[in-house]
Amino acid sequence: MKGREGILSVHVKKIVMDKNADIKIIAQKTPGFSGADLANVVNEAALLAARRDKAFVTMEEFEEATERVIAGPERKSRVISDYEKGIVAYHESGHALLALLIPEADPLHKVSIIPRGGQALGYTLQLPLEDRYLTTKKELMGRMTVFLGGRVAEEMIYHESTTGAQNDLEMVTQAARKMVCEFGMSKKLGPITFREPAEHLFLGRDITREKHYSEKIALDIDSEVRSLADECYHRAESMLKDNREKLDKLAEALKKREVLDGEEVKKIVGIEKSSQPENN
Ligand code: ZN
Repeated sequence: MKGREGILSVHVKKIVMDKNADIKIIAQKTPGFSGADLANVVNEAALLAARRDKAFVTMEEFEEATERVIAGPERKSRVISDYEKGIVAYHESGHALLALLIPEADPLHKVSIIPRGGQALGYTLQLPLEDRYLTTKKELMGRMTVFLGGRVAEEMIYHESTTGAQNDLEMVTQAARKMVCEFGMSKKLGPITFREPAEHLFLGRDITREKHYSEKIALDIDSEVRSLADECYHRAESMLKDNREKLDKLAEALKKREVLDGEEVKKIVGIEKSSQPENN
């Protein structure tokens, strides 16, 4: 925390910040950011303020800059059909609603269906309350369930799956593999780690074919990864089915307004997230 504040203040000194801009709030909204990420945020914010002919960099620019660094710049000019907009709205609503419904998920900050960056047609932003160093199995499962909420919502409403979930599925697969192979979180395989062959490139010597575990274990790993992902998928599915009305409300609002912050989403669906981790 100290390091981050230090880096942030060095850059802020070079530009004039609005007196209402609060470094503490910016720090809160950027847990996990490296010094370089924060430098990017500040530079982007300064550019945005200059482009808007503002004499000061306000929280509005800092907020926008944070999202640019996370998801890329907005591409409002990209034309999307109503049909696709509907799919994206349900996809993001699936993520957002699960982020609210799952107590151990990171708090929902914002959901948007304005295209950003190279590929993102929409995005759901969750921000942890603080920098985290340990993550529990339950939290990992919760995170995977939120990731799968997009695909589940598409299939529920449109009876069709789209390519839009590719990144979500990558994240889920990666997390599940790590749980099994690195964190010893699979009951079946037990508290041991299994190194992936791809990581064994050492000093240019290709020993990727060297097996550190048997074919049988390799199959067990695959089936455990699969069953963790399936478990989260089914959880996402049953939660969204049970809350179909809220999902519809949220998707409708998102289609109309395109961007909603966490508080607005809570109001629309009528959920106050109950058991957020204490910030201490
Ligand atoms: Zn998604």
